Amino acid sequence: MIDTHVHLHIIDTEPERVIADAAAVGVTHMIQVAIDMASIHANLSIYQHISACSITGGIHPLSITDDITIEDVLAVLTMNQSRFCAIGEIGLDYKYGDHNKRRQQQFFEAQLAFARQHNMPVVIHARESNADMIAIVNRYPDVRKVFHCYAQPYAFFESLSGNQNYVSFTGMITYAKKGKIVHAIRHIPADRFFIETDSPYLKPKGVTAPQNTPQYLPHIAQHIAQIRDASVEDIVAQTTKNARDFFGLED
Ligand SMILES: [Zn+2]
Repeated sequence: MIDTHVHLHIIDTEPERVIADAAAVGVTHMIQVAIDMASIHANLSIYQHISACSITGGIHPLSITDDITIEDVLAVLTMNQSRFCAIGEIGLDYKYGDHNKRRQQQFFEAQLAFARQHNMPVVIHARESNADMIAIVNRYPDVRKVFHCYAQPYAFFESLSGNQNYVSFTGMITYAKKGKIVHAIRHIPADRFFIETDSPYLKPKGVTAPQNTPQYLPHIAQHIAQIRDASVEDIVAQTTKNARDFFGLED
């Protein structure tokens, strides 16, 4: 099983321990996702040397502070391009207001353009920004994208241009009994989704540990299996294959 979205650098336990606990339940690989300059550097200095991890590079929309420029971001991405399996997480997040919408859009587009230029996939964070999000990503139909922590109606997926669109589901889905998320989980094509914990955030239902970690990924596979009326083995096999294809991982 592959946990396609983790932030090991924010978890309060040593990565070796987190990785061993995950391996014990069958989670053998994880995508260690950057959110800011510090985590890009941590990915390059620490996590790229851990065989259970593949690393990304990118600036999260809520990490765009005044002291950071697009040129700085593109410089570090360019210098280390071959080490990253994807650009991310990048996107738009309007939850905290309008004040930096324009800057979020500029950073998002610059990183999408970088991904297109280098033929790399992107990991997208989208919150309360649907109209602008769809307008922007549909200018990059040829870029392979995953909408992480998918909690949108299926109609959002249908409104995306091109055939390079994927979604990944987190523990948030374990709280959904019916409604738009369940409908989306049922209807997303089998070759278009994978699973993630977004550790240390978004603990699945029933997990009492202080922080979420990749060892809880099987809860998400089980929940999807129930909703799609499939076996857990099939969901695990399919999402593992999808994630390998998307991030270009070897078997
Ligand atoms: Zn994340």
